[in-house]
Amino acid sequence: MIKVHVLPCGSTVVDEALPFSDQSKNPLAFTGLFRGKKHKVRVTVRAYLIEHPKGLILVDTGWDDAIRQDARAYEGFFNYFASPGFLPEGEGIVDQLAALGYRTSDLDYCILTHMDIDHAGGIGEVKDARRVMCSEAGWQAANKRNPRYLKRLWQDVDVTTFEDAPHDLFGDGSVVLLPMHGHSAGMTAVKVGGKDHYLLIAGDAGYGRPSWERQVLPGVEWNRKETAKSLKRLREFALDPHCEAVLMTHDREKTKDAFVL
Ligand SMILES: [Zn+2]
Repeated sequence: MIKVHVLPCGSTVVDEALPFSDQSKNPLAFTGLFRGKKHKVRVTVRAYLIEHPKGLILVDTGWDDAIRQDARAYEGFFNYFASPGFLPEGEGIVDQLAALGYRTSDLDYCILTHMDIDHAGGIGEVKDARRVMCSEAGWQAANKRNPRYLKRLWQDVDVTTFEDAPHDLFGDGSVVLLPMHGHSAGMTAVKVGGKDHYLLIAGDAGYGRPSWERQVLPGVEWNRKETAKSLKRLREFALDPHCEAVLMTHDREKTKDAFVL
């Protein structure tokens, strides 16, 4: 039996045009620049814990506990302006794991869908996982000069990369890491379960139902063409009767706390 826990890891506030570009005709609306508070929406930040007979897998980490002290200094101006983060007490990744009876050293894998701060923020807190992993393309992009990524977060973390192609973690099809580029270089989705019953952890490949149902592009992406391709793939998964759920990190729709596959 495989069990996937959905872990709420705080939230972030963004312009409504960031997840769904059809909310504004202004192509820069997603930045929030010259836009009123009424256009701001609070979206979830989620991580996932997969209890699998072959290993314990964390997918993403959410924000680092350190964000509580001074979010602006922690995130840097660029990130804070576009999406200030909030992490209530008890929602940090270490606390979330503890609530399920685990220590970070119990983790066999920490898989990062990509290295944005709201997904990889807690990487330093889970560095004693047996293996911390990110796609090679995502890792290369995150270590270039780009204010979007905070390299200091992983300076003392040993990160293993996997190639930019479907990566079958246990060789049995039950956990497959899938390239789902567009939001960022090397974005990875995680397909969990069997052929007849599985779910897709989509990271930021989409932001909610409009992303796949109406193919609404986000306000900003690393590569628009690749994002559009990923949205098509998300729709295929979402409409597949064998796929119980497509889980998106910032989806404002409620989801179950846990899935049994
Ligand atoms: Zn995100």
